[in-house]
Amino acid sequence: MTATEYEAVPAVGPDSTGAQAGTPEARCVVMKFGGTSVADPQKLRSVAARLVGAREAGYRVVGVLSAMGKTTDELLALALEVSPAPDPRELDMLVSVGERISCALAAMAIVDLGHEAISLTGSQAGIVTDTVHGKAKIVEVRARRIHEALDDGKIVLVAGFQGVSTTYEVTTLGRGGSDTTAVALAAALGADHCAIYTDVRGVFSADPRLVPDARPLRHVSFDEMLEMASSGARVLATRSIEVARSHNVKLHVRSTFEEGIGTWIEEEDDGMLEKALISGVVHQREETVYHVEGATRARLFGALAEAFVNVDTIVQTGAQIVFSAPPEDRVAAARTLDELGLEWSSREDLGKVSLVGAGMKSHPGVAAKTFATLEAAGIESPIVSTSPIKIACHVPTVDVDRAVRALHEAFELGG
Ligand code: ADP
Ligand code: ASP
Ligand code: MG
Repeated sequence: MTATEYEAVPAVGPDSTGAQAGTPEARCVVMKFGGTSVADPQKLRSVAARLVGAREAGYRVVGVLSAMGKTTDELLALALEVSPAPDPRELDMLVSVGERISCALAAMAIVDLGHEAISLTGSQAGIVTDTVHGKAKIVEVRARRIHEALDDGKIVLVAGFQGVSTTYEVTTLGRGGSDTTAVALAAALGADHCAIYTDVRGVFSADPRLVPDARPLRHVSFDEMLEMASSGARVLATRSIEVARSHNVKLHVRSTFEEGIGTWIEEEDDGMLEKALISGVVHQREETVYHVEGATRARLFGALAEAFVNVDTIVQTGAQIVFSAPPEDRVAAARTLDELGLEWSSREDLGKVSLVGAGMKSHPGVAAKTFATLEAAGIESPIVSTSPIKIACHVPTVDVDRAVRALHEAFELGG
């Protein structure tokens, strides 16, 4: 796998608290807006006004935009109407268009507000990736063109979710990839911080759409956020947190539609106000679970890695290996297992509920309480896996919502 390298990763001041802090003159801020935030012309104009507000406060402003509303889903569905297994290169050519539309429209709106703006594709912005279509990784940011536009006083709009590969092809970064674009740019530009504007007020103790009394979290460490994101809290793409952590980019998740303090994601420190036992309960409704007989581990997981299958939980008992992987990797996983000539079966009826919290490391009894809660709710959990700050239980998809609510209540996470 290619290592992530940036042209420049300047240090970030330790004590700034956002756009109002310090002297803004020389500072750069990267502001990312998700699909719901740019869903229609009126919302795009509001986003333009927000970017202009930051510019008028003296910042060098880079906006990273997602595709409008459900555009990416619609483009993917369109591809499937034309071809049952779309060619990966052509699929990237197609879906990368959504983000370009948003950026061009936002640039027009900014010009109407009396400011200068330029929209750039991922390629024009110097986002260089590896060659894996559909889930490319950023290997370098060649930010010269962005710097020049910023030096000219322009607001720069970069199409999220995409780049150009080392072999000059258009690539996309995987679902939710605009977050990663924003963080990589913030790292390369030495931005004060990276603001992720979305349709909720921040990171919550559970998906606020599922648990109405979920509590907004003020601070979350990179480690916790990585576990939360990789276990299904889709508010931030997992890869974006990896990049933020390795380049120490502070992330501020906040609402596009209302003012509020939002959530800061940064390095854990002893002064963090909430070093809670459990920070959140996160879930994913679907995860394919594979049962494989008679394979050697090295050969099996080597082949899956070569096919870019993102293996999650692995359990081995005797000759049987059980592992899970996201539903979107189903075709690649099945092909790999068949090519290895293995006897295998899969289950599509399971999802996963995970408790995440840095305080778990030093407190016994979290697993016991988790199992007791699920048992009391009559929910079976055939696979359990843990990390020092996470307990993950696979449960039937039909029980996922109930399991999240029961655990959120049992650990008194509501507010
Ligand atoms: P965007 O389009 O802005 O990138 P996403 O839909 O990717 O937004 O992510 C925001 C959504 O993440 C929210 O609408 C919320 O339903 C969901 N979500 C899941 N878990 C959490 C959580 N723990 N905290 C906040 N949001 C969460
Ligand atoms: N538009 C892409 C998606 O829907 C990328 C993103 O929104 O971050 O996954
Ligand atoms: Mg997203």
